[in-house]
Amino acid sequence: MYCVSVIIPVCNEEKNIPLIYEALYTLWEEKLKDFFALEIIFVDDGSVDHSMMLIAEIARIDPRVRSIEFSRNFGKEIATTAGIHACTGDACIMMDADMQHPVDVIPAFLLKWREGDEVVIGVRERSESDGILKRWGSWFFYKIMRMISDVPIISHATDFRLLDRVVIDAFNELPERNRITRGLIDWLGFRRGIVQFAAGKRLQGEPSYSTLKLVQLAVTSMISLSLLPLRIAGYLGIFIVFFSVPMGLFMLVDRYTSYTSLQFTGSAILAVILMFLIGIVLICLGLLAFYIGHIYHESQGRPMYIARNRK
Ligand code: UDP
Ligand code: MG
Repeated sequence: MYCVSVIIPVCNEEKNIPLIYEALYTLWEEKLKDFFALEIIFVDDGSVDHSMMLIAEIARIDPRVRSIEFSRNFGKEIATTAGIHACTGDACIMMDADMQHPVDVIPAFLLKWREGDEVVIGVRERSESDGILKRWGSWFFYKIMRMISDVPIISHATDFRLLDRVVIDAFNELPERNRITRGLIDWLGFRRGIVQFAAGKRLQGEPSYSTLKLVQLAVTSMISLSLLPLRIAGYLGIFIVFFSVPMGLFMLVDRYTSYTSLQFTGSAILAVILMFLIGIVLICLGLLAFYIGHIYHESQGRPMYIARNRK
């Protein structure tokens, strides 16, 4: 029998934890019990409410439930990563605690998996709960991402995903710390399948991603997936250099021959020389920023997260 690990990052979800556990429990009792063993991993990402107490209570009653308790809030991406590190199943399913990722589609995930897909991605149908700003933002984000990314991007792909064991093992080899889990999974490749689902409103509590945080997330995604934002500075420099070199040559020709006589002033010539030098500097800046950014992240060498305990 195959074992499936369900990974749930939790940050102040005391109202949702019983609900999601109940939903998973019922799903398994009614439909999946005979085909798949279940493991549930709650990763408590520094909750300050009673989330951890509830998880411990559930884990006491149901031995299939495990938990990781972070010493503070490390963010959802790291929490998910910790769950993937810890899971023991033949596949894992990562989902939010707030019931926006409906458990009803899990059978569809599992079906795709058994049909041979190694990564099954939950794709969100349009959600009524999103404001116009968020919808435009996401449209724009995917537009840019598709343009700059080295890997194929699926619009409205969510974190609601199933990973086969091979993907989990490959994922666990990735060392970088400033991470967007789904970006890394996309980067890994493997055979990918899609399951559509309708994301409802958040059931209880407040969404913890403010608009500002979402923008930061989008920027990190772009930067971690592609070097284009940095290359732009370099490109600009290259453009300026290519523009100013013929211009300077033309000025020289104009000054020392009689084909044209535009009579460029000394300051005009100086401006072109300056432009040329600025172009060079921009190119160097683009290169330097790129190297420094990488060296910085790689050299920190901190553990990615600190768990208080694992059960
Ligand atoms: N979450 C987390 N750490 C955080 C923020 C959120 O583990 O710092 C969890 C949260 O408990 C939930 C999931 O990540 O299970 C998604 O969070 P949320 O619903 O706030 O995000 P959204 O649905 O707006 O993307
Ligand atoms: Mg949510």
